[in-house]
Amino acid sequence: MSDDCIFCDIVAEKAPCYPVHETRYTRTFLDLFPAAPGHCLIVTRRHFDDIFSATPDAIGMVGHVSTLIAHAVREELQCDGVGIYQLNGAAAGQTVFHYHMHVIPRWNGEELDIHARSPGVPEELEAMAARLNKRAYSMRVDE
Ligand code: 5GP
Ligand code: ZN
Repeated sequence: MSDDCIFCDIVAEKAPCYPVHETRYTRTFLDLFPAAPGHCLIVTRRHFDDIFSATPDAIGMVGHVSTLIAHAVREELQCDGVGIYQLNGAAAGQTVFHYHMHVIPRWNGEELDIHARSPGVPEELEAMAARLNKRAYSMRVDE
């Protein structure tokens, strides 16, 4: 737990989010400023600033969950592609300094961008989180 970290607050349920998936080690929820509908963030429950301070098992777990979320996003939204991004340091574009992974659905012909300028519409985020949550729990990626 780190003071003044929005993702720590979300993990501790001191701040709200649109939840998609939970493990003992990770929480997955929607990005409040979606680069595309269905933009998910996978965060470690424990605070690490970035890939350089995260432990290998935490990084591995986030990688594992990102596979499941990529499958869920693609199946549920029928997107053409799925981008998985992970930024470290301001120079790389990191804006929240708590280790996390972006999973972003992509459609042919749409511009590539990780950060959006405007927040999502609450009702749409809520409906999207419910869809992805249901899908993520209905599938296995290890079989
Ligand atoms: P980064 O730039 O660090 O890789 O990504 C941080 C992401 O967190 C951004 O895409 C931004 O939109 C998102 N974000 C910032 N504050 C919040 C918040 O309070 N809740 C959620 N769900 N996402 C946030
Ligand atoms: Zn944190």
